[in-house]
Amino acid sequence: MPDQQVAVIGGGIAGISAALELSQHNLHIHLVEKSPFLGGHAIHYTCKANGACQHCNACLVQEQLKKLNKAENVHLHLASQLQGIQKKGDTYYLETKQSPLFESTKEQEALKALANTEGWEHLVQRGPSRHNIPLYTLDWSRMEGSTDPSVILPEPANGLDLNKKERSELIQAEAVVLASGFQPFDPRRIGTYNYSSLSNVVSALEMEKIRRTRGHHLRPSDNASPRRIAFIQCVGSRNASHGNLWCSRVCCPYSLRMARAMQAEQPESEITFFYMDLQNCDREPEKTLNTCRSHFRFLRMMPVDILPGENDSVIIRYMSREERIKEDPFDLVVLSVGMEPGADSASLARMFDIGLNRHGFFRPASEGDRTIPPEKDIFPAGAATGPKNIAESIEQAKEAVKDLLTHISSQEKKDHGHERSLVFHPSIDHRHGMDRPNRSP
Ligand SMILES: Cc1cc2nc3c(=O)[nH]c(=O)nc-3n(C[C@H](O)[C@H](O)[C@H](O)COP(=O)(O)OP(=O)(O)OC[C@H]3O[C@@H](n4cnc5c(N)ncnc54)[C@H](O)[C@@H]3O)c2cc1C
Ligand code: SF4
Ligand code: SF4
Repeated sequence: MPDQQVAVIGGGIAGISAALELSQHNLHIHLVEKSPFLGGHAIHYTCKANGACQHCNACLVQEQLKKLNKAENVHLHLASQLQGIQKKGDTYYLETKQSPLFESTKEQEALKALANTEGWEHLVQRGPSRHNIPLYTLDWSRMEGSTDPSVILPEPANGLDLNKKERSELIQAEAVVLASGFQPFDPRRIGTYNYSSLSNVVSALEMEKIRRTRGHHLRPSDNASPRRIAFIQCVGSRNASHGNLWCSRVCCPYSLRMARAMQAEQPESEITFFYMDLQNCDREPEKTLNTCRSHFRFLRMMPVDILPGENDSVIIRYMSREERIKEDPFDLVVLSVGMEPGADSASLARMFDIGLNRHGFFRPASEGDRTIPPEKDIFPAGAATGPKNIAESIEQAKEAVKDLLTHISSQEKKDHGHERSLVFHPSIDHRHGMDRPNRSP
């Protein structure tokens, strides 16, 4: 296979795995990630081992990232936003804009020092993993006013060039892996849960971040160890009123693992699950449920609402089996949020002129897809194609790469004589996130 170029959009576990798989071939790979750090959502997850491994696969993400750092034919384009796409003949030209990064050792040391200087630490973002290279970046969203020449950073960060400009790039690629991921359901959309006003009602993603930064779970209002903990399942999934009829598949297993880890850390904790169903935990959900019942309380009903209680507690109101409204107090409520199509899926679909399935996810090419014709050279991967766990995202990224390699081989055999005229597709308009792509029926 000749020295061809391939782009991977999205540096979560699916994009990292696709790039790693591609790196074993004689290809130049461009990995384009819009945030300054690789790893996507899963790089934030904590180990849930409670004596024994719970197979959450969070450590797999760290391992894949470590391997990627050694892959010489993978060119990283971090903090890079796709602005537009041109296609000439069989080649894509991806226009990106990259926010300034500080990659030299001297700049990294300066940022580390700034991160440890009182009053300045909020300007620095540290990568979620020690395998993130570079590890430190400036949080440009908080830098407004700091580019004023009169602003002087403290030693030794005062040598940092705050006037670095964004960089435009044109990336060439014969084929593209779309691994732009998912977005977690925003619990503010369920007004009755009062997530915005009750600090001790958190999403599972927030609880992961608390556990990662503090080393264990605690309740946000006063950093105390919560004793009475509730998990609410299916938040934003299997719910017609939010348009999300699908099961997100990962939330039953991830919440049970988190609950087991919490109980191991704090054996006196009392954990209640409000649930509709138990999915994807293993082949025998009833058996799992019976095992879990000996550790946790399971209430098969969805709460009506969540209200403030005494001493920072929260009250969950629900309908009992006897059809009476009951109120139980908790110290902490964890919302098991589901997976929705990625924030950029619609605009990427428009840019690449491809369709989405009826829920708004890309469809993997291997599913006999009607939404992405083969001549498009686009290969969706990971949770951008629907709810998936880490292992499934890795597997599916490998499948997408297999399809891509087969496609490139068949293209090589084709006569490249008649190039098509230059086609320009509109860029993402980040000011209006409401693009309406073509959805297949
Ligand atoms: C609360 C919660 C807990 C979970 N816990 C577990 C668990 O314990 N174990 C498990 O196996 N799974 C778990 N999952 C599922 C897991 O998060 C996914 O399987 C995994 O993150 C999917 O990886 P991905 O790369 O497809 O997507 P993502 O992780 O979403 O990564 C996508 C990447 O693409 C980037 N991107 C998006 N748009 C663009 C663009 N336009 N240009 C450039 N880059 C872009 C994003 O910045 C991101 O880095 C959990 C999910 C949730 C919601
Ligand atoms: S991170 Fe998950 S898979 Fe890895 S050791 Fe811990 S529990 Fe096991
Ligand atoms: S995995 Fe469990 S919590 Fe998540 S949507 Fe499916 S049934 Fe609900």
